[in-house]
Amino acid sequence: MTKAPPRDLTRSNAHYRRAVQRLPLGVASTFRYWGDDRTIYVDHGKGGRFWDIDGNAYVDYRLGYGPAILGYADARVDAAAMRGMNVGGVFALSTERELAVADRICNMVPGMDLVRFSNSGTEAVMGALRLARAHTGRESYLLIEGSYHGLFDAAMWMVNVEDWQPGGNLDPEVVSYSKGIPQDLKALAHLTPMNDPQKLEDVFKRHGSSLAAMLIEPIQGNCCGISATTEFVRLARSLCDQYGVLLIIDEVKTGFRVAKGGVQSLHGVVPDIATFAKAMANGYPIAAIAGREEVMRTFRYGGAAHGGTYTAHSVSLAAAEECLRILDETPALATIASYGEALKSGLSDILTRRGIVHSFTGHSSMFGLFFAPHAPDNYRDWKLSDYTFYDTMAHHLHDLCIICEPDSREPWFICEAHDAACLSDTLKAVETAVDLTLEQ
Ligand code: PMP
Repeated sequence: MTKAPPRDLTRSNAHYRRAVQRLPLGVASTFRYWGDDRTIYVDHGKGGRFWDIDGNAYVDYRLGYGPAILGYADARVDAAAMRGMNVGGVFALSTERELAVADRICNMVPGMDLVRFSNSGTEAVMGALRLARAHTGRESYLLIEGSYHGLFDAAMWMVNVEDWQPGGNLDPEVVSYSKGIPQDLKALAHLTPMNDPQKLEDVFKRHGSSLAAMLIEPIQGNCCGISATTEFVRLARSLCDQYGVLLIIDEVKTGFRVAKGGVQSLHGVVPDIATFAKAMANGYPIAAIAGREEVMRTFRYGGAAHGGTYTAHSVSLAAAEECLRILDETPALATIASYGEALKSGLSDILTRRGIVHSFTGHSSMFGLFFAPHAPDNYRDWKLSDYTFYDTMAHHLHDLCIICEPDSREPWFICEAHDAACLSDTLKAVETAVDLTLEQ
């Protein structure tokens, strides 16, 4: 019988009981609640690990949902942030550093001419959609099923695939992710499956002339890293051109992570607008909307309104300047990709030795793991797949102090600090977690 060592969460559990008196679910974001006796409270992070308030040290493959690309508390980025702190925070005026960061983004990502900053991925995508609507004078938009673009109302539509059967003609019903979203807004949102060219052409035929934008994450960072084929992204580009629709590539998770030029550069496709966030500042809150000049100049008085008190805050901006410099000028991304490859190959060895069929999606720096011979290539197939083995294994991994998202839709994120010690601790724990899962 394989036994997991006990993980002591006495202090975390006690803290939860106090926190829940004051904070809904005892947390600051609903997704951080993992159960009354499994919710973790972090003390601090360093490199590829964090420590909880009980003193347990975890290897972390969530990395705050991706931002900590260089590892937690990176001395280079933190020193830059401190310089940003010393100049004073917010002025409701611009600083010289904005141009330096915008230059860096435009030099790294092909086809990007101008940049506006935001504070979060949600704000950036919300701004991008507003920009597209203002530029085209149209209101509706197209989303890919299984994507997540943030918490704002327009982004929170999904398809209900509970009753959907493969091969059937029925298109699933569109439903909102959350209560509190006006149902009247549904009429503006159209959804289509990833990697289905016929359905994409059909939706453009039916609605193309009223679409302001099509939004796509070519690697779905919130659906197991399901990836668009290059043909699909190129078809999206050409249909957008044909119907006068703006293509928005949401690089909030992929930007400055899967390649210097983002996932769009891997497909050789230039969108009209791209949104960036997470990896650009190693965890400091900043995001960017970038795009081609004619579109971006719609951000003007009398055009698309955009702003915000904390936009281009001096701390986040200084952190972004240094983080992007590192990602651009050092081999960090190649190192991260090689760590990801090593982890995938270690996982594969363990699973193959036990005869467990599996596959990977996404990119080596953010990958999904499936217990099936082929990874799904769209949300409907993921929904119909069996992810119980993953869920049980993730539960055991947490007990063994390896953190991946309990929900298999979140990819495993790799950082520059996931060194050989992290890898060997992880693989040791994975062997035990897999055996415990098989025994259940
Ligand atoms: N777009 C994508 C692709 C994302 O993954 C996320 C967040 N996970 C967002 C937008 C929203 O970003 P934020 O949480 O910073 O608002």
